[in-house]
Amino acid sequence: MQQLKTHWQTLTMDSSLPQADFLHQLIEEAEAIVIGIGAGMSAATGFTYVGKRFTDAFPDFIAKYRFFDMLQASLFDFEDEQEYWAFQSRFSLLNFFDQPVGEAYVNLRRIMKDKNYHIITTNADNAFYAAAFDMEKVFRIQGEYGLWQCSNHCHQQTYHDESLIRQMAQEQSDMKIPAELVPHCPKCGAVMEINKRNEEKGMVEDGHFHEQKERYEKFLKENQDKKVLFLEIGVGHTTPQFIKHPFQQMTEANPKALFVTMNQKDYFIPHAIRPQTMRIDEDIAEVLHTIALND
Ligand SMILES: [Zn+2]
Repeated sequence: MQQLKTHWQTLTMDSSLPQADFLHQLIEEAEAIVIGIGAGMSAATGFTYVGKRFTDAFPDFIAKYRFFDMLQASLFDFEDEQEYWAFQSRFSLLNFFDQPVGEAYVNLRRIMKDKNYHIITTNADNAFYAAAFDMEKVFRIQGEYGLWQCSNHCHQQTYHDESLIRQMAQEQSDMKIPAELVPHCPKCGAVMEINKRNEEKGMVEDGHFHEQKERYEKFLKENQDKKVLFLEIGVGHTTPQFIKHPFQQMTEANPKALFVTMNQKDYFIPHAIRPQTMRIDEDIAEVLHTIALND
């Protein structure tokens, strides 16, 4: 800790500093900021997968399957492809094509203006596009709700067709889209599915995905010996292999790095990096709002 304080002036300041001010100082002081964003960030700015937003959009599916949340529902093994696309078309409109701007994302973009940063996210929604982020700085490691892949993963390419999605949403009845609207793989004829990672099957990773991955890895490499702030926002423990664990490992490997986790839940932190770890447990949207206001 003593050594860390020589690198980070903020750590020598009064510990009663409000959390937003504290984080603001760290952001100003960091030489590089690696931001990991999970579902908690979207939820904090209104894109929740439970409650009214879900029950308003899917009353029929909830009545039939007793779903509790939209993410769980989106991973469900539907009875056939017509039902799968009836659900997914409405889901894609809500969480991608018609998703409004999230204020917390706009605030984050403003805060990062002129900063040396890069983002990795497990969110597949449209929040970064909608908030006008520089997409060269965002790595979407879990796919995108606006993209499709062959359900056999027979080739590494993704597809998209917004107008067909709209037609599916419009022309469905009794939770089924018309059979002729079901999209098929142009190579093997299998049904298409949303470009999302599946625990067993993995995910189709096309050229665009690899470009994002390379940019992210290049950023990490170029900044690995600097005073790096690993900032985790709303990252839970569903897929810790993508953000949480790598952030913790990179923090451990760099004695100048700090790991800041913005989360209302208190997750286990490995002993080795506890002195380098700080938790912001106040409301994510409010903290970002305060920082952006004072920036
Ligand atoms: Zn195929």
